[in-house]
Amino acid sequence: MVITMVEVLYKCAKCGKEFKMDLAVVREIRCPYCGAKIIYKPRPKVGRRVKAI
Ligand SMILES: [Zn+2]
Repeated sequence: MVITMVEVLYKCAKCGKEFKMDLAVVREIRCPYCGAKIIYKPRPKVGRRVKAI
């Protein structure tokens, strides 16, 4: 049994707020704040980058 958690951070083009949305649950991506349908996908949560000083 494989459960894929697709947690991607989206950004609303209208109000600029960022939110997470699971595409497995939601078919239509919409801003939960203002209801805009224009959503940016800034960066998928794939790799983990650690700041090396
Ligand atoms: Zn919005």
